[in-house]
Amino acid sequence: MRKKQFKAESKRLMDMMINSIYTHKEIFLREIISNASDAIDKLAFLSLTDDKINMKREDFKITLTLDKENRLITVTDNGIGMNQDELENNLGVIANSGSFKFRQENGEEKGDTDIIGQFGVGFYSAFMVADKITVISKKYGEDQAYRWESEGVDGYIVEPCERDGVGTDIIMHIKEDGEEANEYSKYLREYTLESLVKKYSDYIRFPIELAMPHSRVKEGSPEDKPEYEEVYEMEVLNSMVPIWHKKKKDVTEEEYFAYYKEQFMDQNDPVAVIPISTEGTVSYEALLFIPQQPNMGYYTPDYEKGLQLYSAGVMIMDKCADLVPDSFNFIRGVVESPDLSLNISREMLQHDRQLKAIENHIEKKVKAELKKLLENDREKYEEFFKHFGRHLKVSILDGYGANAELLSDLLLFYSSTEKKLVTLGEYVERMKDDQKYIYYATGESVVSVDNLPQTEIIKDHDMEILYLVDPGDEFLPDMLRMSCEKEFRSINDNDLGLEDEKKEDVTGEHKDAFDFIKETLGDKIDEVKASTRLKSHPVCISSGDGVTFEMERYFSAMQPEMGVKAKRILEINVDHDAFMALDTARVVDPEKAKKYVNILYNQAKLIAGLPIDNPTEYTDTICSLFGN
Ligand code: ADP
Repeated sequence: MRKKQFKAESKRLMDMMINSIYTHKEIFLREIISNASDAIDKLAFLSLTDDKINMKREDFKITLTLDKENRLITVTDNGIGMNQDELENNLGVIANSGSFKFRQENGEEKGDTDIIGQFGVGFYSAFMVADKITVISKKYGEDQAYRWESEGVDGYIVEPCERDGVGTDIIMHIKEDGEEANEYSKYLREYTLESLVKKYSDYIRFPIELAMPHSRVKEGSPEDKPEYEEVYEMEVLNSMVPIWHKKKKDVTEEEYFAYYKEQFMDQNDPVAVIPISTEGTVSYEALLFIPQQPNMGYYTPDYEKGLQLYSAGVMIMDKCADLVPDSFNFIRGVVESPDLSLNISREMLQHDRQLKAIENHIEKKVKAELKKLLENDREKYEEFFKHFGRHLKVSILDGYGANAELLSDLLLFYSSTEKKLVTLGEYVERMKDDQKYIYYATGESVVSVDNLPQTEIIKDHDMEILYLVDPGDEFLPDMLRMSCEKEFRSINDNDLGLEDEKKEDVTGEHKDAFDFIKETLGDKIDEVKASTRLKSHPVCISSGDGVTFEMERYFSAMQPEMGVKAKRILEINVDHDAFMALDTARVVDPEKAKKYVNILYNQAKLIAGLPIDNPTEYTDTICSLFGN
């Protein structure tokens, strides 16, 4: 039979496996057993609704067989099996190898990185210990079985064969020992396999059996001089207690982390593990994880939230979205509930209320855990917030503030006085006795906001300003209003509630000068007025109380057809030398005064982070004043 070739990327991964000098080669068994368990899960799920399968939960098992003489380890399952196409497609190409994608995205090409041990590399990992792999499989519902075989990179064959019953055998021919004695032969011992199952696959919910050697007294041997013989008896090696059924005190953090990384293909430890066991209106057990970083595709429209859902030991859904609150759509984990019986995907509506109750409970739990993290391990929380803070904020915006109560105390903003991220609660605690508002400034970056002339007066009062510098942030104060005990106030607001704010508006006193400025600038600005907040700076441009410049920028990118425009108000510091020079020039040399106006206007725009209309003209104007 002609050998078929592996797809290029499969070849690369296989090559990496074969030549691996990775020290944890032993994980191959975990990977093969985990595939067997998944295959059984699939058939067990079908059997819930298909009487023809005629299998009970307790009939499912995974059997290990050792043939020391021929150096074979076989892993047999009575799961769903694979047909010819599936053998080719699933084992001939890398289907969903998360780790492979990860390696590619990180531009890694070398083999034997730690990633192999971090999470599933699947079927191919068997090539770390085997030089030939034979797979014999019969798919549920089909009559013909098939044999797939490969000795490595040079290709594979698939041909029809015989097999009793549905399921799969993975037969691995273990490599000869190389430079290190016992390197591979150790896997051909029962006790090695037993300890590997206990170490990596103990929680698998189906029995993993192996014939174990026992020594017993030979029948008929004399009592005073007993003779022993070795017999083999089938034993179940794993405790079969899934990790989410175990009490928290019985599981180490390492075990939780290892389970998480393996199951959810993440190379980072989670920032929090949340085991839940509750009885009440709905009873359920869950093991939830809060990742440290978004997984691939998290911030894309294709991202699907969801938790694995089990009922009575059978996996019902791999990604049950209804269990996951939108605000915390990044959580991973499993939920098992005896209340959710049978085919939930078909009778979804019936279970709606129970799912909703679980979702609500999960929401509370995750919130509490994040709060705990924020209070007890700020550094870790900030790392989490760096990656998911944007999502928390978007949740508030998307719900038009409906989630503000839940999420507002999880938010962090950069503080002008603390020079780091702070919570709203911390801000309020630090507020001065005479401080009425939570001040905030919006802009493109902390540095640009920090330099805004408008911040000066608040800084002079030793009051704190929150810098809202992420896209969409400028909409937050409005949404947070309801859930915060203090009012928010933009530094651009006309009334900052400060004692020494110039109370009276002196715009009227300078009417002629301001008219001159307005005339010179025309449509470029909407209004000129005397500033109540500028101290050492001559001008600033502000947007007043309505649409901010950031909102304008946001909408012109997202919905340009709406034509959302911020007002442009030129605020003048009438006590500044620059204004006085302008006012004098207006009378004695109007042409020069016009130049002053243009310069001040462009400066104000530059400071506000707005592009200036004509940089060449601006610099030429400045130069034209040299020597005058
Ligand atoms: P992954 O498990 O991450 O998808 P693998 O390389 O381990 O990647 O396996 C590829 C695919 O081969 C699996 O998704 C599954 O469809 C199929 N497969 C592997 N082992 C078995 C098995 N014992 N029974 C049925 N299908 C299997």
